[in-house]
Amino acid sequence: MKANIGLIGLAVMGQNLVLNMNDHGFKVAVYNRTTSTVDEFLAGPAKGTQVVGTHSLEALVDSLETPRIVMLMVKAGDVVDQYIEKLLPLLAPGDIIVDGGNSLFTDTNRRTQYLAEKGLNFIGTGVSGGEEGARNGPSIMPGGNKAAWAAVKPIFQAISAKVGGEPCCEWVGDNGAGHYVKMVHNGIEYGDMQLICEAYQLLSEGLGLSADELHEIFAEWNRGELSSYLIEITANILAYKDADGQPLLEKILDTAGQKGTGKWTGINALDLGIPLTLIGESVFARCLSAQKDERVKAAKILPKQPSQFSGDKQAMIAAVRDALYAAKIISYAQGFRLMREASKEYKLALNYGEIALMWRGGCIIRSQFLNDIKQAYNKNPDLENLLLDDFFTAEMKKAEAGWRKAVILGIELGIPTPAFSSALAYFDGYRTERLPANLLQAQRDYFGAHTYERVDQPRGQFFHTDWTGQG
Ligand code: NAP
Repeated sequence: MKANIGLIGLAVMGQNLVLNMNDHGFKVAVYNRTTSTVDEFLAGPAKGTQVVGTHSLEALVDSLETPRIVMLMVKAGDVVDQYIEKLLPLLAPGDIIVDGGNSLFTDTNRRTQYLAEKGLNFIGTGVSGGEEGARNGPSIMPGGNKAAWAAVKPIFQAISAKVGGEPCCEWVGDNGAGHYVKMVHNGIEYGDMQLICEAYQLLSEGLGLSADELHEIFAEWNRGELSSYLIEITANILAYKDADGQPLLEKILDTAGQKGTGKWTGINALDLGIPLTLIGESVFARCLSAQKDERVKAAKILPKQPSQFSGDKQAMIAAVRDALYAAKIISYAQGFRLMREASKEYKLALNYGEIALMWRGGCIIRSQFLNDIKQAYNKNPDLENLLLDDFFTAEMKKAEAGWRKAVILGIELGIPTPAFSSALAYFDGYRTERLPANLLQAQRDYFGAHTYERVDQPRGQFFHTDWTGQG
């Protein structure tokens, strides 16, 4: 019996996806550049399964039923192109190559076009949930050449996470849509994590709460509208004690790493001219955290004025919760607004409701809150901005006062809240009918004759003033 799918790349993600596919009754053939990894996999984690090991791409392709599906789970970048070139002479028209790595969506756009010209179908898919998700049910975001969807759909939907019986895997859109959506997912993940970190610092440093008290607060938040995987693991992290009985968290060095997908999201937002301030600030917060030596030096040269919170702690805890919730709404509003623009610009035909549905399970940003987003797009698939949906408008009104209090606390005590406060600035800017860009346009016209439009004349008519009277 031929294999249903071939998978190249037996690192952590590939191995776990293969075992997951095997559990669901699919026969998988595998290949890895370092072929000893294939043998180790078959003798170890895949022992007793129906996984087929191969030591060459020819043998891998030969072992597959048609149309052949070959999935790459390898390092993103040139490696994907190299494998595509090697597979091309081995595959026939109608066969399918799937790239499940974290590829840049522009590469996926290019590869989809290139392979279509050769009669092959290409799918670029986001796979989220890390090792655990890959093994037990990831969120899978496929896009590319839709002709290939019917063949891979039964496999991907079977192995994906399920919420309420629905698979966290649906066709996302054309070309690089799958990788685009995964990129925005990762950017939102950066934002969610930064927001939780800001809440943690306000409560621990600002209110002087202990790790145990914070554990209780996050566990409580996880029972309400903030309920999510990241809040849940934060509660667990806060409770975790080192060998000496002290919270391990307090011993971890405060320099954050990053692999680049948050940065890509920010760069793309700048390219498309869409304010994605919260994710941008979250990327920069990681960059600032990495400048540890410089910060230690600056802390001595520019010490903070000692000040302490003196007020109603319970009320402030509630305010920080409101800030976290409101800023999270802003982050998703900005992320979905970006996807709306990208869908137009890159012809991705994105389905926002399905995207929210796919993110409800399996992935790092999974949360109850995504149901509310799904409902907003059910009501209006063309919603311009989540903030304009009735439900979110009402939630913002409820949370606004607390959000402002939490930001003020950070300002007064010198505790940085770049995501909380930039989200608030976006919110205030978004609902301001008249921004000071009139002055900006005047300045541009003054020094560069860039012209301006007038409020008392129809749009589209441009004026220039000789501001100095010197021509
Ligand atoms: P990885 O460390 O990103 O990649 C390792 C795999 O790529 C190995 O199979 C390796 O083969 C192969 N490879 C690397 N350089 C190669 C080259 N020059 N030629 C041929 N093969 C090469 O593995 P991973 O962490 O499992 O991730 C796989 C993909 O999924 C990546 O694109 C990653 O970004 C994405 N992803 C990862 C996670 C995660 O949590 N790790 C989550 C979602 C998505 P050898 O064994 O021969 O070195």
